[in-house]
Formats: sequence, structure tokens, C-alpha cells
Amino acid sequence: MSIANANFGFVFERPLALKHWRTIEMGADIPFEEQNVCPCDGSPLRLFAEHKSMQSEKTIRIGWCSVCNYLGYVDRPTSEWMARFYASGMWDSGKVREGAHGVFRGNGVLALLSELSVGKEKTICDIGCGYGEALSFLKERGFQNLSGVEYSPHRARSARSLGFPVMELDVPSAQVFLLNHVLEHLSNPQQELEKMSRMQSTGEYIIVAVPNVWGEVCMEILSFLPHLHAFSVDSLIALFGGFGYEAMIRKESGKEIAIAFQKTGKKIVKSLSAHSIDPMLQKFVSGLGLKKHLSARPRRLWWFRKADVGGQTVLFRNSRLDALYWKTFSFFVGYVLRWKVARLMGTYRGQKGLQSTAISGVQQSVPTAAPITILYEGNITLFYK
Ligand SMILES: [Zn+2]
Repeated sequence: MSIANANFGFVFERPLALKHWRTIEMGADIPFEEQNVCPCDGSPLRLFAEHKSMQSEKTIRIGWCSVCNYLGYVDRPTSEWMARFYASGMWDSGKVREGAHGVFRGNGVLALLSELSVGKEKTICDIGCGYGEALSFLKERGFQNLSGVEYSPHRARSARSLGFPVMELDVPSAQVFLLNHVLEHLSNPQQELEKMSRMQSTGEYIIVAVPNVWGEVCMEILSFLPHLHAFSVDSLIALFGGFGYEAMIRKESGKEIAIAFQKTGKKIVKSLSAHSIDPMLQKFVSGLGLKKHLSARPRRLWWFRKADVGGQTVLFRNSRLDALYWKTFSFFVGYVLRWKVARLMGTYRGQKGLQSTAISGVQQSVPTAAPITILYEGNITLFYK
């Protein structure tokens, strides 16, 4: 039997140990909008997972594109709400700082920029420039015409204090646009690409890096609100091809996809055939330990913050006993999986961010159309940083 015919799921009880992640309840006060087709190739999205509140009947669907293996929210807060979310202190309160600090070692987008040997006089705009780390990095290397776009007012101020022109909403004209882990946050990536493509001439570049849907942490795809989309290489090539861009250099690891696109002006529409849902579903079944546990007893769902490795373990009712068990278990898990994590990440660092949340079983007890269902007694609870 294909796993595509099975239903998996659990009840989300409460978060237990979250590092660097916070929770947000999707109450009735948050306005929602729908995305029914794949933003990359326009194919209809198939229901992949569903968050469902038992109290309010509210659902948040996650759709899958059988053509390019894109995953993303079908139901998500409106773009206006998301913009306010980033502009408000909510997104990164407590992390306000002035100017770039620490050692900035570059990123996937900057690595591709250096391979393209772009002239130092070219206008370069870093979309989502944060505190201006990448812009400073480029300035030190002799680039003269640098600008940025940043939604968060205090980050924008910080980047401006380093001498860069930074817009908070509009995108300025540029010969090279950099989008390092930005595209997955945008409500309408096509709309932003359309704007950028209108300002660029043939031969100019957009360099993009995003998490790879195949390596992104399952709970991040399902429940991390700021990541509205999870892309594959095919997704990005289809999305940019639609605006007349061709992939010139492409770097793919389990964690990240980075591509330098060049404007050719010719719309490239590749006809791709539909994939089976099985490999994608298998990623979630193993990443969340869904198949092994059929009991309704409370469990602890655990996952790493930066490596797509996770599972389930027992949750003792006695909280002291549970704390002791979890401490031992998380140490043991971290130890046992260090090689697996190291292979996925290229370092041991991933094992430090072990996350967990209390769940209980619903397997087969709730009829649902989605392959994966997460139920909530109260409001649907998602994560953010
Ligand atoms: Zn697609």
C-alpha cells in the first residue's frame, strides 16, 4: 500500500522546550487569505497537511505542488498582516542592536556573486538587508553602489547608520538584486520578482538563496509561520523562468539552494510531469516519527532546529521524572545522531538546537482529507523566532 493513502497526525498539546522559537496563536483576530495555486508554476496545490482547531473549526492548510514539489501555506495571514508583523517589534523584539557585530563570514548569495565576477561599479541591492552585514562585506571588497531594502524599521536604521541607503518598502532599481533567505518570507514572490524584472535589462542578475524543501526541518515547513513557502530547485527555475530569467550558477546542498539567475528576456516555460507524493510524505513520516507510534498516550515530539532529524519519545506524567528522562534522552539522542546530523549539516552544530513539544495521538481516530493533520484543543499555535 502506498503511504499516500494513509493518514498521519497528532494533537498538539503544548510546547515543552523551544530554543530560539516562540509561539503565536492564530486567533479569530488575524485576517487570512488563500493561495490555491503554486506560486512558481501556477499548478493547483494539493492538500498535504492541515492544522485544525477543535474549538473553532479554523483550519490552516498546507499545499503541495505535484509538478515542482513546492510546499506552502494555502491559508495564511494577509500580506498586510505579515508586513505589520515584520514592522512591529513582535518579529524580533529583544534582539534590537545597533550596527553589525560579530564575525560575518558571507552567505550563499555572496559566494555566487563573487563567482560571477560582477564589476565593482554595478548597482547592487540587498533585499532584506537586515543590519547591513552583507552590504558592509561588499563595501570592504570595493563595491561602490550599494543599497538595501528592510521591513524592520530598527534593522533599517541600523543599516543606514553604516552609510547605506535603505528603503523600508519600495525596491530601488539595481543591476544585481540579492535575496538571501528572503523569498520564503514574501507573501507574493511573483509580485516582487515582477517589480525587479521591470527594472532590469538583459544580462543583469538576481541571486537567490532559500532553504531546500528536501532538507528543511519538517516542523519548520509545517509550523514556522514566517516561512510561507518551501522551494525545490524546480520551483525556483519555474518561478524565475516565468519572468525571463535563466539559472547560470546553481549550488544545492541538503539545507540550501542558491542560484544566480540572469535576465535573458525570454520566458522559459518547461513542461514538467507530475511527481508521486510518496517521497515528500516519507520525509515527514520519518522526520516526525509518525509511523511507529499508534498509542493515544501523550508523547514528546522532538526535532533539531537546524537538521531535518526528529522523532517521538514517551512523556511521563510526573514532570520531575519527565525532566530527568528528557535530559538524559536528549543527551543520548544528540550523541547517537551526531554523525547523521554532521552528514546533513557538515558540522556538529545542529545537535545543539533540540526542540520538543508535547503531543498525543490521533492516528486514525480523526477522519481527514489531509495526509498529515495536526489538531489543537484551542487555537492553532504556530512558531516564529
Ligand atoms: Zn509548482
